[in-house]
Parts: sequence; C-alpha cells; structure tokens
Amino acid sequence: MTLSRLFHDTLSMLKGMKVTILYLTRPSRVVTQQYPENRETLKFPERFRGQVVMPHDEKGEHTCTACTLCEKACPNGTISILTTKNIASKRVLGEFIYRFSTCTLCNLCIEACPFDAIRMGHGFEMAAYKRDELDYVLNKKEGR
Ligand code: SF4
Ligand code: SF4
Repeated sequence: MTLSRLFHDTLSMLKGMKVTILYLTRPSRVVTQQYPENRETLKFPERFRGQVVMPHDEKGEHTCTACTLCEKACPNGTISILTTKNIASKRVLGEFIYRFSTCTLCNLCIEACPFDAIRMGHGFEMAAYKRDELDYVLNKKEGR
C-alpha cells in the first residue's frame, strides 16, 4: 500500500466518522435518548403522538360538546361518543370511549374537533395483555 493510498483511506474513514467524532468532542449535541435508563426524564417532541387524550381544567371540566365530529372523522371506529342529557335536557357527553388497540395515531380526530377538546398525548409503554384493557373513557365526568 502506498503512502498516498493510506492517507486517502484514512481521510475517507474520518469523513465517514465525522458525526461520531463531532458527538465525541461535543457531548452536549448528542440527540440520542438513553431509553429506558432515562425513563423518568424522557422528553418528547411536541408533535409526538402517544395516544388521544382529553385535557381537563383544574375543576375537572372538559370542552367536549359531544358533536361526534371526531367519531365520524376516525377511519376505523376507534372512538365512540355516548351521549346523555343534563338537567336542562340538553344533549351532553356521557362517555368518550377511545380504543387504543385500534388507533393508528393518524390525528384525524384531533383535526376534526372544533373545540380543541382532544389532543395527542405523550403516553408510552401502553402495552397490555388483554385488548379490552386498552379501552379508555377519556372524560372524567359526564357533560359539562
Ligand atoms: S388518531 Fe386516527 S385512528 Fe386514532 S382515534 Fe383519532 S382518527 Fe381514529
Ligand atoms: S372531542 Fe371534539 S369533535 Fe369529538 S365530540 Fe367532543 S367536541 Fe366533538
């Protein structure tokens, strides 16, 4: 092997290891998450889609009006909106049933909601042994 060939190969190898060397010399720029060791401090990008959740305020209220637009927007029947009537005979949300086992996290239901009543949460490690353990009622109480 000639000296110039050795130099060329070494240069080529260093080019290939550019990112590795960069992270070695500047560890603060490393973006790889050390999961599961960092489970407690794990940070998700804002757009991470874990599962559909229904935010509630400090009084436990939600903004869902039971309009069923999300149910209609869902392509695979993952959402069921069960309605009831409040004391004023107004139709309100009874149960917002969300079946995580069939959800493809496509976000269509979130986009369809005109009241920002649901959003994508950052849940992870959601596995269960039985399918029905992945059925959730998202609202804490009926109506609003
Ligand atoms: S994210 Fe997609 S699949 Fe999941 S409930 Fe919403 S519309 Fe349905
Ligand atoms: S979550 Fe939004 S779209 Fe779905 S029923 Fe409630 S208000 Fe309507």
